[in-house]
Amino acid sequence: MTNNNPPHQGTLSVWAGEDDYLLQGATQVPVVHSVSFGYNDMDHWLRVALGQEPGHIYGRNTNPTVHAFEEKVRLLEGAEAATSASTGMGIISSALSTFLSPGDRVVSIKDTYGGTNKIFIEFLPRFKVDVQLCDTTDHEQIEAEIAKGCQVLYLESPTNPTVKITDLARLAKAGHAVGAIVIVDNTFATPINQNPLQLGADLVLHSATKFLGGHADALGGVICGKKELVEQVYHYREINGATLHPMAAYLLLRGMKTLSLRVKQQNQSAMQVAQFLESHPRIERVFYPGLESHENHAIARQQMRGFGGMLSFMLKENSFEAVRSFLPRLRYAHAAANLGAVETIVGPPATTSHVECTREERAAMGIPESLIRYSTGIEDVEDLIADLDQALD
Ligand SMILES: *Cc1c(COP(=O)(O)O)cnc(C)c1O
Repeated sequence: MTNNNPPHQGTLSVWAGEDDYLLQGATQVPVVHSVSFGYNDMDHWLRVALGQEPGHIYGRNTNPTVHAFEEKVRLLEGAEAATSASTGMGIISSALSTFLSPGDRVVSIKDTYGGTNKIFIEFLPRFKVDVQLCDTTDHEQIEAEIAKGCQVLYLESPTNPTVKITDLARLAKAGHAVGAIVIVDNTFATPINQNPLQLGADLVLHSATKFLGGHADALGGVICGKKELVEQVYHYREINGATLHPMAAYLLLRGMKTLSLRVKQQNQSAMQVAQFLESHPRIERVFYPGLESHENHAIARQQMRGFGGMLSFMLKENSFEAVRSFLPRLRYAHAAANLGAVETIVGPPATTSHVECTREERAAMGIPESLIRYSTGIEDVEDLIADLDQALD
């Protein structure tokens, strides 16, 4: 009996993308380290080289292990095509370089990931691309800037570190009205909680280093969407060379088997941690899209299936000194720059997402000195809450 129902996200996390590469009865995708792939039949080689037949030729272009990873993400995002890069920034810079030329204009938000923000303010202007960064939650301003015309609309939701939410469907519509390519960084939400392509985006990308891999042991980036667009990003990346390593692809692929399980747990625990912190007398403010007190909770509820594992909070005593004494007291949290792993991870923006900014610049961006970013792990939530409680005491 065949089952024609499409599989759910948890099933896809485990099975998707692997079939073509399970060799000689292996139940796991192998790490193919070979740099090249040989052909005795010249006509076959030619057909593969011309893209008329599937196959691999050279490791900078494609690789079986890397392809299995791309396929898993593609199916989880419900996309036509996917391609990858060595890091999240590798895929972001490839995508922006693919679609922007001198004289073009890109509209984005002020709260994009720090590295992305650097591309916008430091590198794209050198190539005579006009960059317009809007207040992240001012939808009217963003729409007004889009209406002036742009080639690319680049969004991220939730954002880093104050987990702001933008209405992706509404802005994608505005982008398409002027013919822009709409790109969304979905790293914080993961495909388990949000599928931007279903909300109208043309391309969705991830730093696979974070939740997709989930174990903080491999760097990677991936982009999915319409075939015609993904092929262009692939072409840029294959020539510019920021290729994902097969060993990293294997680690990401293996990590993703538990993506759905992990993220569901992280959604639940983050909500409980956020509620605990919100009621704590030493806490000034908690930012989490699942809280009713969140500025755009209603939009989050509409476009997300879960609110994610990321939250941030402000201590009552708004100083870096308060952060300095609080963080080392946490037993179950790495104080580190990354996020999205099985372990809980904490860090202030001053040393993580906004390390390049001065105190004054952070203040201007609305990032208080006592803000702490909290990436909820998969520990038992009772232990996480007890740990926060004793550290705040
Ligand atoms: C970490 C991160 C990136 C960059 O990814 P790397 O893998 O570190 O290059 C991009 N966007 C978001 C939202 C991130 O958290």
